[in-house]
Amino acid sequence: MKFDVLTLFPEMINQACSHSIVARGIESGLISVNALNPRDYTKDKHKKVDDTPYGGGAGMVLMCQPYFDCFDSVEKTEDTEVIILSPQGKAFNQQMSIELAKKSHIILICGHYEGFDERIKQYTKAREVSIGDFVLTGGELPAMCIIDSVSRNIDGFLGKIDSAHFDSFSDGLLEYPQYTKPREYGGYSVPEVLLTGNHQEIALWRRKQQFITTYKKRRDLFDKFAKNCNNKVDLKLLNEVISEFK
Ligand code: SAM
Repeated sequence: MKFDVLTLFPEMINQACSHSIVARGIESGLISVNALNPRDYTKDKHKKVDDTPYGGGAGMVLMCQPYFDCFDSVEKTEDTEVIILSPQGKAFNQQMSIELAKKSHIILICGHYEGFDERIKQYTKAREVSIGDFVLTGGELPAMCIIDSVSRNIDGFLGKIDSAHFDSFSDGLLEYPQYTKPREYGGYSVPEVLLTGNHQEIALWRRKQQFITTYKKRRDLFDKFAKNCNNKVDLKLLNEVISEFK
């Protein structure tokens, strides 16, 4: 998977990619992240990349030329997905992340200041993606969220792909609670079932805990899952949770 990130602050991307699992993914060659700066493509002698908005108003708007040329410099394939980061875009979620992980090349275009000249979206034919209903200073943090999350869903990226399969949202539910050593700490103990070594019982307990956690924290997800569920074991557990917690 190759990520090309168009950003006026490439060091933000490079720095964020030099830690933890993303850095390991780059080292192993499973992913590559290349930050390109539209400022390097500007034809303006003062290296300008933004200007005041037509029609007046506050702030500076990113100009077409540096972004068009920077975008053109990236080699694309049939499989290239182009994303422009914008608070106005479709909300990024785990489902979108799993879909994007099937791609081999993603271009992420980061805005800054007041945002993009609208024609940049038109020229790049990018899909607008938001990471939530709030406004950040730039697209670099959203781009990193997408790189991190999508990479986790690439086979082989995590030590055990299972750890992504059971992550919250993967099957529409939140994850079950996790515990590690010691068995007792500060008067709090680990649920007995996790110490039995009985894998079937543990799996059942975890499934029910997923339903309980989702019911308590995200009723919207719980209701959606329950509506579409036709697995007998899940249905039994779902009904138990509904009657225990209503
Ligand atoms: N004036 C724009 C608006 O109101 O829609 C906001 C511009 S914002 C200050 C600058 C840049 O940050 C945007 O062009 C976008 O790339 C990025 N950005 C800010 N919030 C974002 C979000 N929630 N999701 C994705 N990108 C975001």
